[in-house]
This record gives sequence, structure tokens and C-alpha cells, in this order.
Amino acid sequence: MPINIPFDTTYLTLPARFHSKLNATPVSAPTLIAFNHALAAELGLDTSDMSDEDAANLFSGNNIPANATPFAQVYAGHQFGGFSPQLGDGRALHLGEIAAPSGRVDIQLKGSGPTPYSRNGDGRAWVGPVLREYLMSCAMHALDIPTTQALAAVTTGDFIGREQGRLPGAILTRTAASHIRVGTFQYFAAQRDVEALEKLTAYTINRHYPDANDPLQLFEMVMQKHATLVAKWMSVGFIHGVMNTDNVAIAGETIDYGPCAFMDSYHPDTVFSSIDRQGRYAYSNQGPITHWNLAQFATSLVQIMPDTDQAIEDFTARLNQFPSLFDAEWAKAFAPKLGLPQNDATTALAKELLAQMANAGADFTNTFNALDETATTFPDWYATWRAADPDDALWRKTNPAIIPRTHKIEQAIVAATSGDFEPFHAMLAALHDPFTPNADYAHPPEEAEKVHQTFCGT
Ligand code: AMP
Ligand code: MG
Ligand code: MG
Repeated sequence: MPINIPFDTTYLTLPARFHSKLNATPVSAPTLIAFNHALAAELGLDTSDMSDEDAANLFSGNNIPANATPFAQVYAGHQFGGFSPQLGDGRALHLGEIAAPSGRVDIQLKGSGPTPYSRNGDGRAWVGPVLREYLMSCAMHALDIPTTQALAAVTTGDFIGREQGRLPGAILTRTAASHIRVGTFQYFAAQRDVEALEKLTAYTINRHYPDANDPLQLFEMVMQKHATLVAKWMSVGFIHGVMNTDNVAIAGETIDYGPCAFMDSYHPDTVFSSIDRQGRYAYSNQGPITHWNLAQFATSLVQIMPDTDQAIEDFTARLNQFPSLFDAEWAKAFAPKLGLPQNDATTALAKELLAQMANAGADFTNTFNALDETATTFPDWYATWRAADPDDALWRKTNPAIIPRTHKIEQAIVAATSGDFEPFHAMLAALHDPFTPNADYAHPPEEAEKVHQTFCGT
């Protein structure tokens, strides 16, 4: 029995220029790789009668439910600092929204074929980025960091051409609080389409920030969400890799797992995207770049304010608060990692540890997970930390034992590319429980296992 999803898609009430309705391009032989039963249950979906074949047909886009009206969203965005006035879902298709018990969510297929926004792309994804996003988003969720989630993954039975050769095609189904981005606002702002901006703002407030009384309050709330989100990324050594404004979700979730990674050896300048030669999206630049991205959001919102001069003054004043807001969130995220209360002394201690870790090239996750061992690696730091009387139970339960290490993801992808999904499933199972020690996933890569860059997730 095909699963019955109670679609209730409010985004389609926005004017036609917000989206393009279209169907997925059929694939030849869809096969289910994984289905997230826990997420389906949280969403209130009854999947008890769903066979793997039903799931494969649905989540490949081959069998679009009769009650769905699939569409692609349009947006713009600053990519590595340069503005693209029109991007959009180039290989993604919204099946629609559902009103889940925990809130409204989008259900979107990624890799489902070309759309009017595909530009030169083929609208497809290969199995590598699909599995990477599945593993990364699952780990992020288990670490209690806001994120889009993977509901399903399928292989398509088709091969697609990439730089590396012909690769097996795949489609990821992801859920998100919504896919509204800073870039969605920028798209209409660039066209001076004030009517659309007003509608988008009202829609966004209603859907995500019902307590906001005006665009300025919306802005403050989004700014707070991102200060918290990015501080949390920092606290687990996560590098997003492509913090373009089209990858900044207004709801405050981590979105778009392209060339992203959790660091092994710690260094603040670490970059993962092969095209980020300037270090724009380096680990330590994620706070400042969020500030920059939020400035683009503010610039878009100013257009709908009645008094432009006053609005520029008001938004600038709020925006100027970002660095201190981010520092506070950073301190809040790092204090429990040391088992200490949040105060200036703790913040200084955390920064000192990071400085010594950077010098030594210490493993980010393992250093925090075994802080006791700093007695031998960083003895002076250890003595100061001990003197501060840390709560050992607190830092032990705050610092994960395992994160999705790049080389393990890469190994899972290599196996999957030749048809063996076992390493992927084993890793997925382990990542559901990142606080339980697991020797299979705890080790940094051997020299020969090191993956220096992940390529753009296409
Ligand atoms: P990203 O770097 O993943 O945020 O993607 C930037 C833009 O490129 C978005 O508009 C994507 O929809 C589009 N895009 C990425 N990969 C493809 C592809 N294979 N086919 C069509 N569009 C794509
Ligand atoms: Mg993107
Ligand atoms: Mg991407």
C-alpha cells in the first residue's frame, strides 16, 4: 500500500512568481537505500503498510501521490560573495508540506530531475552526496543541533556523468521546517518587487515567528537563531563549507550539506570546499560570515519599511549587536564542554585550550571527549582547568564520542558506489548515538585515509 501523506501546502498560496509547478522526471529502477522510520513516526506518518517498493516509487518521484502538487522554489543568493539574481531549486522538488504534531514541515526530493532553475545542471544527484547528507544530517540531529533531516534515500538505477566519471544516481528526500532562505528574500529584493517581499515576510512571520510584530522583530529573531546555530556548529567542530546566502534557512536549521565536514585535527583556518580558496567559509570565519549573510537579509527587508532612512538606522543597530550575541552563544556552547559555568574565566580557558590544540594539531572531538588526557598533552592547561573544579559528569555527557568523520563517510560512499551499502548502514546506526564510545568511528584518519577536500555536493 502506498503511504498516505496528508499534504497541506501553504507555500502554493503565495503568488505564481514564487515557484514553478512541475513533476519529477521518472527514473528507471528506483531502489530504497534507507528510510527514517523514527522521523516518519515523529511526523505522524503511518508507514506500517508501506513496502520498500512503495517507498522507492514514492521517494524517487516515479509515483507522485494524487494529493500532491509538486513544485520548485525560486530564490537568489550571494555565492562566495558574488550575487546571482536567480538560482532556485535546480534539482529539488517539493512534494509539499504537512502539518506534523511538532510543526509544519516541507517534504522535498533532491536529485529528482531538471527544473526551470537548473541552469546548466542535470537536476540529478549521485549516491555520494546523498549518503553524505543522510549521515551528516542524522548526526546533527542526534547532537541536538537544528537541521533539515533525511526521510529517505533511493538509488535511481540510472548513471549520471560527473567529473569523476559515470556514477550511480540517487535521490534524497529531506524534511525542513521550510526552505525559505535569505536568498528567497534577495530574489524579490533584487527585482524591487515590494509586493512579493511583503507577502513573503508575512508568510514567514506566520509560519515561523508568529511572535514577531514587524520585519525588524523578524530580523532580530532570525539573527538570534543563527547566532545560536552557528555557535553550536563551532562547539562540535563542524564546518558548513558553503555558507552562501541561499544556504541560510530563515527557520534557523542547518541546510545544504555539500562540501561540509566535522574537523579531525583542530585548526581555526580549516576549509573543506575545494573552491573556497580565500577561506571565506573557514571554521573560524563562520560567525563573521553569518553576520555578513544577515546583513543581506536586512538589506532585503529594508525595502518594505515605510521610512527607509529610519529603517537603515534600525536594522544597522540590530545588526551591530551580532558579534556580541554570537560571542555569548559561543560561550554558552563551550562552557558545558569544559564542565564549567559560563563566565569570562571559562571562556578564556576554552580559548586557551583551542589555541594549544591548534598548535598541537589535536583531534577536536577526541580532545574534548577525553579532557582528562590533557593532563599529559597540555599539563599547564589541565592544572588550571582542574583548579576551576569542573563538573566531570557534565563535560562527559556534553562532548560526543563520535562524529561523522570525513574518511569514514568517504569509505561508506566508495563501498556504496560499487553496490555495498553495509558500511553506510553501520555508520548510520552508530551516529544515532554519538555519546556512546564506538571504536570503529572514534579514530582520526591514518595518513593514507585522509580526504583533503570534499567536492561540491552535486
Ligand atoms: P548549492 O551550492 O548546493 O547551494 O547549489 C547552488 C545552486 O545550484 C542551487 O540553485 C542548486 O539547485 C543548483 N544545483 C546544484 N546542483 C545541481 C544540479 N546537479 N543540477 C541542477 N542544479 C543544481
Ligand atoms: Mg543550496
Ligand atoms: Mg548543495
